[in-house]
Amino acid sequence: MGRCPRCGKGRLFRGFLALQPRCEHCGLDFSFADSADAPAFFIMFFSGFIVAGSALAVEILYAPPYWVHAILWPPLILITTLLPLRPVKGLMIALQYQNKAAEGRFTGSDAP
Ligand SMILES: [Zn+2]
Repeated sequence: MGRCPRCGKGRLFRGFLALQPRCEHCGLDFSFADSADAPAFFIMFFSGFIVAGSALAVEILYAPPYWVHAILWPPLILITTLLPLRPVKGLMIALQYQNKAAEGRFTGSDAP
């Protein structure tokens, strides 16, 4: 929903994918949030499956001229990649917060 993973009220995003520095409601610092390329990876995986599968099915069933492929698939690619990008990034950050996922750190007697 694009909301803070702790309070569920403050907005998580400042732009389309840019994050707020902290939650405007509960003050949670969003600097821990680093979803890296996980959202893009999952979306490419599923979008590629859907679009390539559809293109293959249409080609095998109807064998249309190539311009039909050129018209059909770019909009489907945009829809299946841009629409889920923000929700999936929000989900990754929420999961990162819930599971306390972060880079490893040395603490106490483990410190070198
Ligand atoms: Zn919050």
